[in-house]
Amino acid sequence: MALTEYWKKRRFGVTAEPSGKEKPAPKKRAKALGYVIQKHRASQLHYDFRLEWKGVLLSWAVPKGPSLDPSVKRMAMPTEDHPIEYAKFEGIIPEGEYGGGTVMIWDNGTWTPESPDVDAALKKGDLKFTLQGKKLRGSWVLVRTRPRGGDGRPSWLLIKHRDEFAGTRDIAEDEPRSVISKRILVEIARDEGGDLEKAATGDPPALLRKLAKNPKLLTPPKRGGRKAVWKSNRA
Ligand code: MN
Repeated sequence: MALTEYWKKRRFGVTAEPSGKEKPAPKKRAKALGYVIQKHRASQLHYDFRLEWKGVLLSWAVPKGPSLDPSVKRMAMPTEDHPIEYAKFEGIIPEGEYGGGTVMIWDNGTWTPESPDVDAALKKGDLKFTLQGKKLRGSWVLVRTRPRGGDGRPSWLLIKHRDEFAGTRDIAEDEPRSVISKRILVEIARDEGGDLEKAATGDPPALLRKLAKNPKLLTPPKRGGRKAVWKSNRA
């Protein structure tokens, strides 16, 4: 686990994403492990599922987002480790940069491994864990599948275990807002100088129609957003 790939893909003079190069303050005592899901309207909408482990955020991109239904398996493509501070990032990645688009902190909290040896579980491709998030709770598993198709890249599945937090309601549709700012994607794009039209395609259409009919329901614009970040790197 290292951030080499993360650094290679990004230009920190251009994107507002954290570089992960500041030394984190030494931990006073063993702390719970962080968990975050970032809803990300990049070239495709996806949900970045991240678990803190050994000083980085292990990361998977889940195109359809998590499902509370244990019979639904959600594809989760492994992506590069991210720095711990990334869990606090909500805003805009400039277009033309890696992952250009709008990022929302869709859920956060802590996680507890159920697999006794996390490194062995990751290697085996079968990690069981409990989430203590604001939206997602209870027991889950990430399981690696055989590589499909030509590129030989293994993919994983994110699956809810059967427990009192399982259910059939569509949580991605039901709870589309940021857990830190309560904004939907289009409101984040509005406040931070992003592409509103593109961001809106990641928000539930029914909610957008409701907001269009009654703009008073929009979250009030955030003051002091990072408007200056919005700049194309192409001449
Ligand atoms: Mn992403």
